Amino acid sequence: MDWGLMMKTFRRKTIVHCCAVLSILTASNAFAQPALPAYDLLLRGGHVIDDKNHIDSVMDVAIKDGKIAKVATHIPSTDALKTIDAKGLYVTPGLIDLHVHVYNGTGERNSYAGDNSVPPDGFTFRVGVTTVVDAGCSGWKNFEDFKERIIDRSKTRVLAMLNIVGSGMRGDKYEQNIADMDGEATAQLALKYPQTVVGIKTAHFGGPEWTPVEQAVIAGTKANIPVMVDFGVDRPTRPLYDLLTKKLRPGDIYTHMYSGLRQEQDPTTLGPSKAFIEGRKRGVYFDAGTGGGSFKWSLAVPMVKDGFIPDSLSTDLHISSMNGATKDELNVASKMMAIGLSLKEAVAEMTSHPAHEIKREDLGNLSEGSVADVAVLRLEKGHYGFTDMQNTRVDGTEKLVAELTIKDGKIVYDLNGMEALLWNAPLDPNAKYASRWTTFAPRPPDSHNTNPTATLPH
Ligand SMILES: [Zn+2]
Repeated sequence: MDWGLMMKTFRRKTIVHCCAVLSILTASNAFAQPALPAYDLLLRGGHVIDDKNHIDSVMDVAIKDGKIAKVATHIPSTDALKTIDAKGLYVTPGLIDLHVHVYNGTGERNSYAGDNSVPPDGFTFRVGVTTVVDAGCSGWKNFEDFKERIIDRSKTRVLAMLNIVGSGMRGDKYEQNIADMDGEATAQLALKYPQTVVGIKTAHFGGPEWTPVEQAVIAGTKANIPVMVDFGVDRPTRPLYDLLTKKLRPGDIYTHMYSGLRQEQDPTTLGPSKAFIEGRKRGVYFDAGTGGGSFKWSLAVPMVKDGFIPDSLSTDLHISSMNGATKDELNVASKMMAIGLSLKEAVAEMTSHPAHEIKREDLGNLSEGSVADVAVLRLEKGHYGFTDMQNTRVDGTEKLVAELTIKDGKIVYDLNGMEALLWNAPLDPNAKYASRWTTFAPRPPDSHNTNPTATLPH
């Protein structure tokens, strides 16, 4: 056989052989890889509270590809890669904190575009919050720095209200400067980032003029988003009644509703002032924003008793409220429940209501197809104390705690390891798919043979 003929024969044989191996492999793959179950993650037997869909009962919730796939009275475990028993717990949409300050990390002292703000991920998932709205730390001049520095780098969904002050919430020198309040420029920036900028904020103004409110409404109208007002110093030239009945539009938001700093309370009845009653009739929303100096029991108790409850529960989180009376979103909810809010109302005010206020109806619900942001909450019973800005206390017997938080379909917080297997339990055959339902590393397939330095997270 000459050399050329020999090579031709060899190649033909090799090709035939390879084809045979390939077809065997293909056939065996078909047997070895049955179709995956319909869902990635199943929360079974929890009490679902989904205000938007009028659900307040024990249901199963199935998640697939980061979305809510099904909510039903019985979904079998075999339909999911991973099942978690949520019996005795409440399952709600991921919570939305409508008023926080998270423009942290610029290094600027005494500034909410700096040291007064907190990093969002440290304060959110641990209390069931998956979305926060930064309330005016940045304005049109520094929003893009805020976005690059915090919004784009956080695991929490961070949305923003632009301050009507172009330089944002950087202290009196900036916030009292009427020349830096440009509704037109603010609207243009808001329209450039419609997925992220969800409102306009005016705050801390001390002057007699209506300029900040008027410019904020110009911006909000052009960009078709709401205005949130922290009404600053109480001034007779711009009364609360005029703000809520003339200046703001239906759909705008009055925050710090129980502060008592701007005649929110009727001095005789101790219930809501005429301005509040008329404002609510017109469709202005009222937000808690309890903060460091914006929540008094002497207002909240009689006003809630009178039925004037918040449309949305928010913290006004910053470096002093985080350790003061406010603490966090679930503490705000628990304190309001201690004076009469039902759990169902509290959940609505942290989910569907704030989503509606910022025109983000895609958030704050468990509708099939919605993003799978979920909070699994425990209502603990015991003796608890809740304080206000004057350090007075209300006692309560219930407190909400987050057991599990899911963002975009994946577990991001698990207080008691309810998703984890015991360390010495047999391996879960589905563990290789764990990245479909959790952000936490699964146990390696052969724990004994693993080089620990190669797999340990830093
Ligand atoms: Zn604030």
